[in-house]
Amino acid sequence: MSIVLHYNEIVSIEKQNLQRGMNFRCNPEYSVLLMSTRNNAPFEDEVVADGRVLIYEGHNAYKNHTDKDPYSVDQPRHTPNGKLTDNGKFEKAALDFKEGNEKPEIVRVYEKIKDGVWSFNGIFKLVDAYEKEIDGRSVFKFILTLTDKPMNENETEIRLKEHARLIPSKVKAEVWARDKGKCVECESTDHLHFDHILPYSKGGTSESAENIQLLCARHNLQKSDKII
Ligand SMILES: [Zn+2]
Repeated sequence: MSIVLHYNEIVSIEKQNLQRGMNFRCNPEYSVLLMSTRNNAPFEDEVVADGRVLIYEGHNAYKNHTDKDPYSVDQPRHTPNGKLTDNGKFEKAALDFKEGNEKPEIVRVYEKIKDGVWSFNGIFKLVDAYEKEIDGRSVFKFILTLTDKPMNENETEIRLKEHARLIPSKVKAEVWARDKGKCVECESTDHLHFDHILPYSKGGTSESAENIQLLCARHNLQKSDKII
């Protein structure tokens, strides 16, 4: 299961307007990553290890920092005046954790499904970072592992608490289009969830759109009552 949110709900949960993909320590206790894809481009973020691990690709050079196509140059660790970019900050946090010097950075991940429609993908720990040569340039890769623990016991945290596995982006996009952005039971467009038809705990897969459907909160709850 994965909660569907409108962008203004993310703004109200995070208490800020997130303009960039990578937002290091935008909250005193955690960072936020937004997953979205360029039109007609392959998905750059990968879901592996049965949906427990996300590999997030770093950000390109900002347009005002380079006169070349940002997709053609190395992803930057530093800004032109020598400060760490978000790539550099996330990398430092990952390596500090890996070397045993710091606790892992906590990262919340939201993913864009289409304009204005997002899903909350869960709360992660940042555990590693590396650079990889792709198409003749260097890109950053960040390894994040899903944690089931809510950060606090307040209402928002409990609402966001997820035991589910990540559903790959292409599966979500396929399900959203097939179900036309509506609950399959009642056509409601409010409080939608991506629901595993056969639950993950009973062997249902996240890898195929055939096992995922859109349900509103009411039908999602009815279904979990039946399962229990
Ligand atoms: Zn419904």
